[in-house]
Amino acid sequence: MKAFEKKIKENPEPIFIGLILASLILINFLIKPNAAFLDFYFLPIIAVGYLMGKRKAVLFAFFTILCVGLLVLFDKEAFAAISTGVAGHLNFAVWGGFLILAGWLGSLSEKLQQELRLSNELREKLALEKELLKASNDRLAEYTNGLEERVSSRTKDLEKAHRELELSANTDPLTRLLNRRGMADKLDNEKFRFERNKKPFSIVLCDIDHFKRINDNYGHDAGDYILREVANLLNAVSRKPDTFCRWGGEEFLALLPETDLKGGAILAEKLRTTIEEQQFVFNNNSIPVTLSFGLSEFDETMTIDTCIKMADRCLYLAKEAGRNQLIPKLSNL
Ligand code: GH3
Ligand code: MG
Ligand code: MG
Repeated sequence: MKAFEKKIKENPEPIFIGLILASLILINFLIKPNAAFLDFYFLPIIAVGYLMGKRKAVLFAFFTILCVGLLVLFDKEAFAAISTGVAGHLNFAVWGGFLILAGWLGSLSEKLQQELRLSNELREKLALEKELLKASNDRLAEYTNGLEERVSSRTKDLEKAHRELELSANTDPLTRLLNRRGMADKLDNEKFRFERNKKPFSIVLCDIDHFKRINDNYGHDAGDYILREVANLLNAVSRKPDTFCRWGGEEFLALLPETDLKGGAILAEKLRTTIEEQQFVFNNNSIPVTLSFGLSEFDETMTIDTCIKMADRCLYLAKEAGRNQLIPKLSNL
């Protein structure tokens, strides 16, 4: 019964059609009581068949035809009473046919409606899935973007940290000049350049004279101050491609690219006079500072080491000769 109610709820049209037709037949019968009442009767039967569905309609039609057949067989007069004429009984067969057709149409329509409902449900589900997918895609894109940003910023931080680490590993913290390690690469590069294009380069080694006395007389801080100031001056006076490093305690090494012995001597002399003339004042104490210089020009018979040793030997000779002077590589060294 519940299934029937559901069916009626889902297919209300045939009920209305049936009711309208039944009313029409009733009105027609009331107006013309002699009219072929049963000829109209098949119309609500079609509606009923439509509601029943194919299988039940077939059964119903079969049962009706059977009853009518029996009626014809056993009580012709009774049949004549409900039929309109001689061919009236044939109408029952036609009604049966209509009933089955209507039942078939009912089943078909129900199936179609079911399919339609299903496809609507599917469409809704699909739309929902689409929305969910879009939302998770958006979230994923957001996450990926965030991740990319985080990775890129992290990479930048790491690169920066790496650069800083490399810089601090190659830099002397007091003077901010390169240290020995940092200078070693530059010297090697310069040697490779020399081997390729034979352009001369020179190495200057300089050392603060009597630095121990400065420390002893004015204190260690004054010594540090002098070291920083001398480093700044060396950098300020030299050309851009020239590179200075803190080679040892109060000793500096300069690499002068594309500079022969003559050019190196001019620069070293300039550095010497600049330092000599500079006023170094620390804690109201004016501290006189001078530097001794050794200079060597690289040639194909040398290694970087022997070139530095040569400059060192010259520096030693400059100290020996009374300090505050330059000794360039001599042919007899
Ligand atoms: P010379 O003219 O022969 O070079 O004499 P010097 O006194 O300069 O040379 P010496 O090698 O006798 O003394 C170098 C001094 O430099 C000894 C050391 O304590 C000092 N020194 C080395 N590094 C530093 C530093 O970073 N800061 C300070 N304040 N002193 C330093
Ligand atoms: Mg010294
Ligand atoms: Mg020294």
